[in-house]
Amino acid sequence: MNTAHATSAIVPTYARANVAFERGEGCWLVSTEGERYLDFGAGIAVTSVGHAHPHLVEALTSQGSKLWHVSNLYQNPEGERFARRLVDATFADLAFFANSGAEANEAAVKMARRRQSIDGRPERYRTLTFEGAFHGRTLAMIAAGGQAKYLDGFGPKVDGFDQIPLTDLAAVEAAIGPGTGSIMIEPIQGEGGVRLVPPAFLRGLREICDRHGLVLIFDEVQTGVGRTGRFFAYEHCGVHPDILTSAKGIGGGFPMSACLATADAARGLTVGVHGTTFGGNPLAMAVGNATLDVILAPGFLERVARLGLDMRQRLAELKDRHGAVIEEVRGEGLLIGLKLKSPPANFAEEALKQKLLVIPAGDNVVRVLPPLVVTDEELAEGVRRLDAACAAVEERLMVAMN
Ligand SMILES: *Cc1c(COP(=O)(O)O)cnc(C)c1O
Repeated sequence: MNTAHATSAIVPTYARANVAFERGEGCWLVSTEGERYLDFGAGIAVTSVGHAHPHLVEALTSQGSKLWHVSNLYQNPEGERFARRLVDATFADLAFFANSGAEANEAAVKMARRRQSIDGRPERYRTLTFEGAFHGRTLAMIAAGGQAKYLDGFGPKVDGFDQIPLTDLAAVEAAIGPGTGSIMIEPIQGEGGVRLVPPAFLRGLREICDRHGLVLIFDEVQTGVGRTGRFFAYEHCGVHPDILTSAKGIGGGFPMSACLATADAARGLTVGVHGTTFGGNPLAMAVGNATLDVILAPGFLERVARLGLDMRQRLAELKDRHGAVIEEVRGEGLLIGLKLKSPPANFAEEALKQKLLVIPAGDNVVRVLPPLVVTDEELAEGVRRLDAACAAVEERLMVAMN
């Protein structure tokens, strides 16, 4: 038995790499051993503006010495400002604040169900979701995601979610029954392996929802807040959802989430209908506003789009050099996936030896998710380290073959 694990008092639900980090700056992390790592995982697309960004540190520490928490029983000026900025920058009219991606998705589904219910269609509580989806780990969200590995052993799957194949509009039409009230989709599947959804499919869903009176929900927990080179990924497809969830990068590393909605979609959520103790907490709102200051600064998102294009170009060259390791390069902005020919966990392990952090995903994909403030030089350095990791994987393959 591994003594490190035997002595841990944390429930062992995570396969942790054998490294701990002490501090960070921008795209770099320093381990407790004093070694520097290039962070192209960003804590799973969370530290969107890098580690210890001075503007965020200032927002957190100055708020931290004033007020941490008061609950939602009182006015929330910093939250009002944050909500106003989010709705001004998107299709939405209203924001509901929560603390995690799964919780924002729960709010979205509850909102959709209430909307149908108050319109006299309470039977329309069902949500269509897509194969390969990931919406979080609460009991309802593992039902929404529909993946056996997350559902196993947790009793009956929460009712109300029907799963269909991705990118098949005929299957969507066929799956709509008298109980269907909403459709939920990630515009790009993140955990599922950076699987791009064609814009035409998303436009098709919009049209179907309008025709059948369904609520369209985009889970942008991973794709949002600049990750794809737009503020939210729906901007790439020319239509907008009725409800959108955001988490991960929205707080630059501070745990928080938001559910954005049109006034019409949110009609059912009236006083007392839904709530959370921590959602919209002053610390979160201060850091959220500071994160927006960075992301919404003129030229920032254009730069992310350009860097993403450059990076995918360089990675395509890497694929040409290492065809035995990399099968495909895909993504949008700085949400990039390398589809591999061998398990992504092995690749991530080799990358770690090169002092580079990347993140395994489904469909044999390893995700490259640098902080959005990454420089050209850092991207070039990341590619060098990925190159070395590819060479190490090739070596392993050669050994295995002989
Ligand atoms: C990470 C993720 C979630 C879950 O977020 P948590 O904060 O872990 O609850 C939901 N949806 C998508 C698309 C995600 O990437």
